Amino acid sequence: MTSPLLGPVDIRALAAELGVRPTKTLGQNFLHDANTIRRIVRSAELTPGERVLEIGPGLGSLTLGLLEAGHPVTAVEIDPVLAQALPRTVDARLPGAPLTTVGADALRLLELPEPAPTALVANLPYNVAVPVVLHLLATFPSLRSGLVMVQSEVADRLVAPPGSRTYGVPSVKAAWFAAATRAGAVGRAVFWPAPNVDSALVRLVRHEPPTTAATRQQVFAVVDAAFAQRRKTLRSALAGWAGSPAAAEELLRGAGIDPQARGETLGVADYARLAGVAVNR
Ligand code: SAM
Repeated sequence: MTSPLLGPVDIRALAAELGVRPTKTLGQNFLHDANTIRRIVRSAELTPGERVLEIGPGLGSLTLGLLEAGHPVTAVEIDPVLAQALPRTVDARLPGAPLTTVGADALRLLELPEPAPTALVANLPYNVAVPVVLHLLATFPSLRSGLVMVQSEVADRLVAPPGSRTYGVPSVKAAWFAAATRAGAVGRAVFWPAPNVDSALVRLVRHEPPTTAATRQQVFAVVDAAFAQRRKTLRSALAGWAGSPAAAEELLRGAGIDPQARGETLGVADYARLAGVAVNR
């Protein structure tokens, strides 16, 4: 039997047939390498028959890989031409495969058709990758794990531990929801058109957020304030958030954090504790 996956010739033919000219704005770089697609599906470590949420199915490269491996897919695509064509592409190559297509902007998604997907697997549009991951983890508690392809530098930020050079707001916020690890690099030649950045896979496994009296929004507000001036001491960087440098120092001491420390040395549990002290003051 021939493979249902889309190779370089299929991708170009399909794009031509649909009149699709890939845009940078929507991060449209389509996968045309069966080995990479199967590697992504394997790296996702899905349970048999697990339903997957795919963001940005594009021409259907990864969608077909997931369906081929026996996973029902809920696919969310912002481009109406691509969203409309996807069921036809799948029907032609894997007739009757369990696909649900939603034409929508992933950043505005507030509900999904039942049954709820429990894993996120996506080759994400690079310019909105972090907001999309954070929005989905916040909005859909059914998602227990994820495997996302992002720009290599973004992967570094998502998985960075406190104190490392690439640690920042995305690292702390992702750590609120999940443990993030790098799951390998992906070259440029497996895409059409080839992007001008390298890519990497990030695996996410949801965990309980840190215990705190503060809400997630309150914790994230402290994180944003601390990293807005990341070279400053927390006493100074958090002055605006706390009301004054002295108030910031008092809250930091209350949470057992050195006021002279910098935001990049704190883990998500420290931020959660600090926000909790501020709520109870
Ligand atoms: N999954 C396909 C593949 O691997 O070949 C395409 C991946 S391409 C990097 C990103 C896809 O996300 C494009 O199809 C693009 O139209 C879509 N997209 C961009 N922004 C989006 C958004 N905010 N919500 C949903 N889809 C989006």
